[in-house]
Amino acid sequence: MYKYPNIDKLLSRRAFLLGLGKGALFTSILLRLMYLQLYKTDQYKVLAEKNRISLRFIPPLRGNILDRNDKILALNKNSYNLLIENTKNKSEIIKTLNKVSEVIFLNQFEIESLNNNLEKKSKKDLPIFIKKNLKWNELSTLNVNLMNLPNVFIEKGVKREYPFKNLAAHIVGYMANPKKSDLKDNPILQMIDTDVGRSGIEESFEKDLRGFPGTQHLEVNAKGREIREISKEESVRGRNIKLTIDINLQKHIHSLLKDKNGSIVVIDVNNGELLGLESSPSFDPNLFTKSISEKDWRNLIENPMSPLVNKSISGEYSPGSTFKLIVLYSALINNIIKPNDKINCSSKTEYGDRNFYCWCHKKKTGCFATQTGTRYVGPELAVAQSCDSFFYELAKRIGIERIVETARNFGLGSKSGVNLDGEKYGLVPNKSWKKKRYKKSWKIGETMITGVGQGFLTTTPIQLAVMTAMFANSGKKIFPTLLKKNQTTTDNEIFTTQTLNQKKFFKIIKNSMFSAVNKPYGTAYGSRTTKPIFAGKTGTVQVRKITKKEREFGIISNKDLPFNKRDHALFVGFAPYKNPKIAVSVVIEHGGSGSKIAAPIAKKIFSKVLS
Ligand SMILES: [Zn+2]
Repeated sequence: MYKYPNIDKLLSRRAFLLGLGKGALFTSILLRLMYLQLYKTDQYKVLAEKNRISLRFIPPLRGNILDRNDKILALNKNSYNLLIENTKNKSEIIKTLNKVSEVIFLNQFEIESLNNNLEKKSKKDLPIFIKKNLKWNELSTLNVNLMNLPNVFIEKGVKREYPFKNLAAHIVGYMANPKKSDLKDNPILQMIDTDVGRSGIEESFEKDLRGFPGTQHLEVNAKGREIREISKEESVRGRNIKLTIDINLQKHIHSLLKDKNGSIVVIDVNNGELLGLESSPSFDPNLFTKSISEKDWRNLIENPMSPLVNKSISGEYSPGSTFKLIVLYSALINNIIKPNDKINCSSKTEYGDRNFYCWCHKKKTGCFATQTGTRYVGPELAVAQSCDSFFYELAKRIGIERIVETARNFGLGSKSGVNLDGEKYGLVPNKSWKKKRYKKSWKIGETMITGVGQGFLTTTPIQLAVMTAMFANSGKKIFPTLLKKNQTTTDNEIFTTQTLNQKKFFKIIKNSMFSAVNKPYGTAYGSRTTKPIFAGKTGTVQVRKITKKEREFGIISNKDLPFNKRDHALFVGFAPYKNPKIAVSVVIEHGGSGSKIAAPIAKKIFSKVLS
């Protein structure tokens, strides 16, 4: 089941956007002014009587964000801002602002922000922003009327632009006004009146991207017009950040998730580089650059599909049958089952007062029985057919604690450490967790349910991709990253090499994943291809309880259910089968069956990347 993050948090972000006053003067400015007063007195004597010195900060150019092929995902474009000198004469300022609003339209947000700034007494020496990112028609109207607007001036600045719009929004992120805590940590942010990275790479590499501001001292006359430049210190440009993402692939996976709610993760199985990471629906980060409008903001936060949430890292879903790979591996290394052992699938397993059904139950026959007449299922067939009875029994024999240990070795239950904020842990439940959480002891039935990837167990799509990559590379631990190597940044990643050294078991698992896609009895047989040959595992996750009556009279199919009661469709896989290069995880919320919905999507990704 997918849990949505707290909407209140998103709302308070809006509150910040609206409510942020432009604060107080800080020490660095004071020191600068003292310096001017003490050491540059002579220079000031030459100023004409009513002229003043105006200190302006030159914002640094922010570094660009690039994809792995140097396509620019975030850059700076020229913009024009309207400002007013902040003099002591408030009533004159207000009079002028009224005149401004007759010339150009000021929205509610801009007016509120202006009022906030005017109330701040301590900021009297810095000009106040009236409107940012002026449009061309506003610029020309203002130029005509500027003569009648004392102390008002137009300043050239830069704004952030995202040419690929909503294609990589959750990766690249967006920029918005600094929060109070940002300003406290870094007063200079206020001086340059800059936005800061608020999500994605823009946020996690803020320090590298930002650069350092310069300063400019101007002599201005009584009307606030610039007379001459007294001194200037250039700003220092921020660092470019090169990502592992391929924007062409990103475009492709974005289109595969069109009108769907879910996630796709594409990862290099050998080095953990993320080639694509898509969460759907997405949003256009350019909206935030223009001070997002009330309407656009409402559309984003009130959308039940949560476009602002990066589901690839913070969506917590039951892994469903994709988790059977972990259970099988755990059984093999713990010597619970031999590769040739078989378990009977009777389509219904009774335990305690509960019945556990194999998915084949609705066919009123055990797994594969119709094809061969036997109900005994070995590991390869159990994975290919996704036999639930096999895994109920196997999980019971292994025990929850050993399953948990294996799951953790594959990165489930902990953050993957990818360079993005907001990552969730998922949940790998065990006895002590249940005791702590519910004050109740663990039941064997819960182990059985965990064995088919349901129950308390949840995982994020990025965890599933890492898990699959580790099966593909035969147990080499990888750490997903968005940052192309050989870049010096503040984010120092630690890479360790750790291998689960059980090659023969990985061979069994990989072979069973091959069968799931390439053998007629496999659940993803319909999605097989030779370009390239791939292997994988489907998952179909129930989000509702199936009643006894429904079991007897036929289970209602997904298309006859309301959208939010339909199953989640999952697929994890890797390709090429012989020499694995990439792994993918596909999660489609309420998409229906993993084999019908998620596996065909994975096939299209493999074909795009590897054919
Ligand atoms: Zn079965």
